[in-house]
Amino acid sequence: MQSQQIVEWGKPLEGREAPTPEPEGTEVLVRVTACGVCHSDLHIWDGYFDLGGGQRITLEDRGVHLPFTMGHEIVGEVEAVGPDAEGVEIGDKRVVYPWIGCGECAVCQTDDELLCMTPRTLGTRKPGGYSDHVVAPHPRYLVNYDGVPTELACTYACSGLTAFSALKKVASLREDDHLVIIGAGGVGLSAVHFASAVTKAKVIVADVDGTKRAAARQAGAVESIDNSEPDAVPKLLEMTGGGAAATIDFVGRPETGLFAVHGLRKGGTHVSVGLYGDALPLPLALLPLKMLNLLGSYVGTLDEMHELMGLVRGGRIAPIPVATRPLGEATEALEDLRAGRVLGRVVLKP
Ligand SMILES: [Zn+2]
Ligand SMILES: [Zn+2]
Repeated sequence: MQSQQIVEWGKPLEGREAPTPEPEGTEVLVRVTACGVCHSDLHIWDGYFDLGGGQRITLEDRGVHLPFTMGHEIVGEVEAVGPDAEGVEIGDKRVVYPWIGCGECAVCQTDDELLCMTPRTLGTRKPGGYSDHVVAPHPRYLVNYDGVPTELACTYACSGLTAFSALKKVASLREDDHLVIIGAGGVGLSAVHFASAVTKAKVIVADVDGTKRAAARQAGAVESIDNSEPDAVPKLLEMTGGGAAATIDFVGRPETGLFAVHGLRKGGTHVSVGLYGDALPLPLALLPLKMLNLLGSYVGTLDEMHELMGLVRGGRIAPIPVATRPLGEATEALEDLRAGRVLGRVVLKP
C-alpha cells in the first residue's frame, strides 16, 4: 500500500510503499476512498501539543514513532475481513470511527472507550487514512453513510463529531439563550450548520476573518463578531443583553478562551474544544462569583457518531464546504490549513 507518512516531525510528508496488511481476528481491511485533513493533524505533524509556559506533550511521549501515517477522518470500502469479523461484507462502504480504545480496560468494557488511557486511535496513535488502505480493529467501528456523498461522509468522523459532541454539552439551552461559537473554520463551521438540530439557542459566531464570519451567517448564525477587536467583549455583552448562556471555543488560544469566559452571563457554560495551545490566565474568583461551568470536549463517542450519522442521513444536517485534493498533495493541504487558506474541509483522495 501507498501512504503519505511523517518521516521527520514537521517536515514534508513522504510517499512510501509498504505491504498491504492482511486482516487478522476481528480486523477489517478498508480501501480508503477519502480522508479529511484535520487541524489537529498540524500538531501531530509537528510532533507535539503546546501546553503553555514552555510545556509540551509530545507524540513520542504518547508512544507514536516515525514513520507515521496520519489521517483520522476516513471513509472507504471493505476490501478484506479477518476470520472473526462479523456483520460486515466485502464491498461495504463505511465511515471509520477512529477514536478506538484498548478494548480491555474498565472504561472500554463499559463502552466509555473515549476515556481509555491507552487508546488505539487511527491516525493519531495507529496508522491512519493518509493512505490507500487502513485497518479497523473491529467491524463495530464501521458506520453506514448511505445517501451521503463519500467526500463529505468522512468529515463527520472528527470535524462533524467534535462539533456535535460539543453542542450536545449545551443542548439544554432555551430559545432566548445565546450560544457563541468561536472559530468558524472546519469544526466551528460544522457546529453552526448543526446547531439548530441540537439546541434552540440563538447562535452568534466570533471569528477574526470576515469571510469566515460571512460563511457562518449564511450557515445560520444570527449575528457575528470580530473577536480581535479591542472592545469585542463589551460588544458581545451588549449583543446578548448581559452575556451568553454558553460559549464553545473551537480555537483554543488564550485570547479566544478569555473572550469566551468573559462573554458569559452568570451561570454560563464554557466548552473548550480547540487545541491551538498555550494557557488560559483566568481570574479564579470569576468562577465562583459568576458560578461558571468550564468543560472540555474531545471528539465524541461511538454512540454520538451513530446518532450524528442518523441525523445526517435523515437530511437534518446541512453539508459543510468540502474541497478534494490528491493524496500526494497532503503536505500542501496541511500548509494551506496552517496558513488559514481553507474554508470548510480539505479531503484527500488516494
Ligand atoms: Zn480531527
Ligand atoms: Zn481501554
